[in-house]
Amino acid sequence: MSQNQQKPPSIFTMMKTFTNELGKWIKEGAPNVSPEDYAERLDVCSTCEHLLKASMRCGACGCLLQHKAKWKTTDCPKEKWKKQDMSDVNEQGK
Ligand code: SF4
Repeated sequence: MSQNQQKPPSIFTMMKTFTNELGKWIKEGAPNVSPEDYAERLDVCSTCEHLLKASMRCGACGCLLQHKAKWKTTDCPKEKWKKQDMSDVNEQGK
């Protein structure tokens, strides 16, 4: 199956995943990655076999990448993104 034919997770699964990620991001003080890391994440997604180009969603988790890639508390479900230093996030979220 080609990347553009990949079936995304159901709306229910997508909403559940996105809500969980949003809750985690807010709880930790809404920290974002640097602009450089954001661009790097989107670069990785642009060549990923899971990318759903028409909607710019991740076919593995269903999240909208323009949001998910900005949030420091989120990670790629296939571990393709660079790991973030979370020490400052954990301090803010206390
Ligand atoms: S978040 Fe990960 S799995 Fe999803 S499209 Fe980006 S690189 Fe691929």
